[in-house]
Amino acid sequence: MSNPLYHKVVVKVGTNVITNNQGELDLQILDQLVSQTAELHNQGVAVLLVSSGAVGAGRSIIKLLDDLSPVAARQVLSSTGQIRLINTYADLFEERALKTAQILVTKSDFRDRLHYLNIRTCLTSLLKHRIIPVINENDAVSVTELMFTDNDELSGMIASMMQVDAYIILSHVDGLFDMSRQDNAPTVIKTIDISTEHFHQYIKPGTSQFGRGGMLTKCHIAHKLARLGITVHIANGRTSGILLDILNGKEVGTKFIPQKAVHGRKRWIAHSEGLEKGAVTINAGAETALRSPERANSLLPVGIESIIGTFFKGDIIKICSENGEAIGYGMAQYSSEKTRELLGKKGEKPLIHYDYLYIMP
Ligand code: GLU
Repeated sequence: MSNPLYHKVVVKVGTNVITNNQGELDLQILDQLVSQTAELHNQGVAVLLVSSGAVGAGRSIIKLLDDLSPVAARQVLSSTGQIRLINTYADLFEERALKTAQILVTKSDFRDRLHYLNIRTCLTSLLKHRIIPVINENDAVSVTELMFTDNDELSGMIASMMQVDAYIILSHVDGLFDMSRQDNAPTVIKTIDISTEHFHQYIKPGTSQFGRGGMLTKCHIAHKLARLGITVHIANGRTSGILLDILNGKEVGTKFIPQKAVHGRKRWIAHSEGLEKGAVTINAGAETALRSPERANSLLPVGIESIIGTFFKGDIIKICSENGEAIGYGMAQYSSEKTRELLGKKGEKPLIHYDYLYIMP
């Protein structure tokens, strides 16, 4: 490889890519993926690997008792399987004289800016030491409420946090198939730009066999990241040489073309769904102002109709339209108590400054 297309990438490997039909880790595929990652690393590409497969690996180690709840089953399988998964990676990288580190995160680790920056410092320092981080959700402790939807969501957050050039989702399918073709010939859509709003009509519903994420979640995340300025590829991780092909600029899988990059703080806020401490409902005039493509408007008390919950300065809050629909997220500049005092008043300091505001498309 002479001139890799990207310098920093997140590669997400799905359970279905690295496990066989019996749900056991597929060593041949893992070896292939590690070998490609090592080659990229040796070419100077910083690779952050997000790998699923802990629960899958656990299934091949433990025979669960019958009376276990789904949560407990996931905890037992993931905590046992994660050891096998990470040891396999560590051994395969070591064979190529490379070092790895294990990072396990939960969604609440992304909740406040300080915690978020701590994870970023950790990953940045590992990359500086030329260590390959192997990241997964801490499935043993992240249960139901504050769980990532799947590792596609987790990797998307890491990709945006680390300002990578590209986020590569390796799945067990070749990309996004065009289901609208009359002749039914299976054709992978090569590129998608962010103006494509109805891509989900191309996707067959349903999730994958062992992993949690389906194609629709992948597309939503890909679309969101492309809007934040990150190129996303969805490709088949079982195809030999796929990572090298992507970094060589070959047209494989589906590529989401990015728009211009968005500032770091906004990227953090863009991933705040489910992490908010409270919410505000705004009037139609304020919504129009916040959606303005020409002007950078902040959210002022005059446009706020009501407040839900209790929040303090620095907390993430959800912004809802008049009809209660979530339209964005932002960081509060003062508390819910103060907001109540200023509700509807003109000429007051913004509750959410434009730099700390993310409005959904
Ligand atoms: N963290 C889970 C695992 O390692 C996978 C979640 C997913 O399928 O996205 O098994």
